[in-house]
This record gives sequence, C-alpha cells and structure tokens, in this order.
Amino acid sequence: LEPAYQFMIRIRTPAGVSTAAQWLEMDRLANKYGNGTLKLTTRQAFQMHGILKWNMKKHIQEINNALFDSLAACGDVNRNVMCNANPEQSDIHAEVFDWSSKLSDYLLPKTTAYHEIWLDGEKVINSEEQEEEPMYGALYLPRKFKIGIAVPPLNDIDVYSQDLGYIAVLENDQLVGFNVSVGGGMGMTHGDNETYPQLGKVIGFVTPDQILEVAEKTITIQRDYGNRSERKNARFKYTIDARGLDWFVDELHTRLGWKLEPARAYHFDHNGDRYGWVKGSKGKWHFTLFIQSGRIKDLEDYQLMTGLREIAKIHSGEFRLTPNQNLVISNVTDENKSNVEALIKQYGLTDGSHYSALRRSSMACVAFPTCGLAMAEAERYLPSLLDKLEVIVDEAGLRDQEILIRMSGCPNSCSRPALGEIGFIGKGPGKYNLYLGAGFAGERLNKMYRENIGEEEILQVLRPILFQYAKERNEGEHFGDFVVRVGHVKATLDGMEFHN
Ligand code: SF4
Repeated sequence: LEPAYQFMIRIRTPAGVSTAAQWLEMDRLANKYGNGTLKLTTRQAFQMHGILKWNMKKHIQEINNALFDSLAACGDVNRNVMCNANPEQSDIHAEVFDWSSKLSDYLLPKTTAYHEIWLDGEKVINSEEQEEEPMYGALYLPRKFKIGIAVPPLNDIDVYSQDLGYIAVLENDQLVGFNVSVGGGMGMTHGDNETYPQLGKVIGFVTPDQILEVAEKTITIQRDYGNRSERKNARFKYTIDARGLDWFVDELHTRLGWKLEPARAYHFDHNGDRYGWVKGSKGKWHFTLFIQSGRIKDLEDYQLMTGLREIAKIHSGEFRLTPNQNLVISNVTDENKSNVEALIKQYGLTDGSHYSALRRSSMACVAFPTCGLAMAEAERYLPSLLDKLEVIVDEAGLRDQEILIRMSGCPNSCSRPALGEIGFIGKGPGKYNLYLGAGFAGERLNKMYRENIGEEEILQVLRPILFQYAKERNEGEHFGDFVVRVGHVKATLDGMEFHN
C-alpha cells in the first residue's frame, strides 16, 4: 500500500493573466484534485495544494487542456514572468503585458521531457541522442531566475527584487523602451551573513525589441559564471556582487555586440494595489479585490471561491493575479458592470473593505502546513496578528495609513519581506525576526530590529513606534521612511549592508 503523498502544483501564468474560462477550470481542478482552495502567489501564479500523487498526471493533463502548464514554474530556469497587474488600464499596459508573454515563451526550456512525462507526448529523441537546450545548456542554471516588468509610477512587481527587471519608459504616452535592472533577489539563510537580500541596480536603457536578447544574454552569463559549488551563493545577485557591476555590464555588452543606452528618467510612487473600480483607456472597467494572503477559499461567512466562480460564469474579460496576491476582475464591459457588482455584493466580497490599510497592504507566503521549508507560520498566522495590530493602529489613528507589512515562514522570503516597511521572517515555531524600514516604493531594504521574538514582544515593540509615527511623522511621510529618519534603523540601500 502506497502512502498518500500529496504535492503542490504551481501553474505558470505569465503576468498573472487568466481568462474567465481558465479561472473556472482552476476552480474546478482545485476542488476535484486539490484541497478545495487556490493560492494566488506573490509571483502572479496559481498554486494548488493537496494533489495526491496518483492524481498528478491527470491533474497536469487537465491543466494543459485549460491552456496552462507548470513548465518552468519551478526549477533552475527562468520562472513566471511578472508584469504590472492592470495591463488594460491603458494601451501601454497592454503592450507591456504582451512583452512579458513573449519573454516567458522565449525563455522556456526547450526540453520535451515535460510533455513526454506528463502529457504522453511521443518520444522525440532516443536515449542515445542529446537533447538540444541552446540557452540553458546541459546543466541549466545554478539557481532559479526571476524577471519582472514594472510600469511606473507603480512598482507592484517589486522590480528591484528581480534578477532581471525591466522598467517601462514612456515618452509622449508611447512606450519607447525599458530601463534594465539587474541583480536583485530576496532569499537568504539565517545565520549566514554571506547571504542577504539585494536590490537590483539600473544599468541602462533598451528598446522593446531588444529585451528578449538582453534577457537571453544575461541568463547565459549567470549560466556560465554563477556559483555552482555553493548553492546558497548561487543566485545571480551574488555573481554580480562578487565580480562587480562593471564586469557584468562589460560582459553583457560583449555578448550582445552592442551597448545599452544610458538609463532614462523614471519615478516610482508606490508598491501596493489600489482597490475598487477603475475605468481603463479602452472604456472597459477593472475591479481590484483584496484577497487576504492570496488564498481563495470558502468560509462559512465568506463565500469567496463561490462568488468568484459565479462572476467567472458571466465575465467576458480576464482575471489578473496581482503581485500583491490580490485579484483584478479585468475588462468588464459597461453592460456587464452592474451584474458583476451585484455578485460582488451578493457574496459580500468587499465586506473586508472595513479592513485597515495595514491589512490591505499585507502579504504572507504559504508556510505551514504545505511548505516543507517553513520554520514558522505565515499565511495562517498573519491575519490574527493583524487583528491585534489593527487595535493599535486604530488607537493611534492610523487606520487609513498604508504600511507595507509582509511575513515569510523562512528566509527564502517568498513574500519579499525584506521590502516590507514591517517585515517578519520565521525563525522557529511562533518566533520571528522583525525588520523595519523598507521604502514604500520598493527602493530600499529594511533592517533587522529584533531577533527571534514572539507575538507578545512583537506587539510590545511595535506599539510605541506606531504611536510615535502617528505623532511625529512629517506630512505624507511613510512609515519606512520615518523609522529610518528618527533612527530606529539605518537605511539599507545595498544588500551587502543588510546585516550591518
Ligand atoms: Fe515556504 Fe519559506 Fe517560501 Fe514561505 S518563504 S513559502 S516558508 S519557502
């Protein structure tokens, strides 16, 4: 008798875009094979949990029938390409979304193994032949690789957390190209100061038709120079930090055979999502819905999964998974808006609109019980911690103040906690390192403020700081900027200073 091993499947969803029909399929498969819930990840992908081993193949085949796949959703290859979450808000966003899809397809591994194993594809090579993998080579990359495209002034994808980030540059309302950021990354290892989160650095400007080539050459540099003897130091950020940014730019120019132009001016205002309805430039409507920790499920008093299923049945547009684990019901026609609105109301999907801005700016990774790497709770715990923090922010008069708060169950940092104005990284059951002081637009890392503390101490520590912030902040000053200005933590603009 075989034990009932169960798995998580992550579904590649470039830029987090799913048609209504695909949404219905994800819902159906989560109920048929999974644990009856969907997780929207911080990289705009779907995760399904609780897939029993003997259902894996059928499950993947049915995902494929829905025109999705899990190819390169894991492993040492380029992962899900992220993109600003509301591409239809203007023609520019649509264009940028198109580029993110092209990047995703262009950088897929060429292996046919996925199709052979899961989709009963015919074997196209015999064992004597070597499969051709022109970009990744025989060994693939030393570690995973992450790419995202941001459209200023919104930095929802945390572009500086990406191995390779593209920042859209607009001139006269036209997309003229992208600034290129390299060498970001969030993961680290507790107790090993040779590992750290890092911010990407902008190295120049390229035109849209150059971004595939720049991505390819960048990946091949990491393939050839990434650290293959020490996995903890194998991410691209360490390759750049060890050899220097100038070395990387020279190597990139050599491989390209041409040079990037100097970076163009740009500015980010903020990171998180803006909720509710917005009308796009093509006259369609988009509704952004807060999803706590990205978990789609039905509770007795909150039928989120059912409500979204009913919306998908009448929706002719798309669903867009945001990088902050929320959801945009996108491209709603004028005629259908009232129907969607009625379902939102019927299922009470915005009943959480009474939530504090702190909660609406929160993110948590999966952690226990389904992530094997978790050291502490995240998704299941953060909501109850927020209940207690909301009491404090209410007393302090900060209910409507957005403060980015993020929790990860381990230092792999899937919820990008080092970019939280308040960040938590799990150390052990019920214990977290507390970090403060990241920038509101994702431009500065936070710094450890307390190590290995439990809930009581978390509340004790944060209470006076939140009150002080309410009283002493400058007009428009964000929490992360404030704690740096008054000296609670030092500003961290380079990951190599993160532990100092
Ligand atoms: Fe798992 Fe760690 Fe990622 Fe959380 S941060 S999902 S605990 S690997």
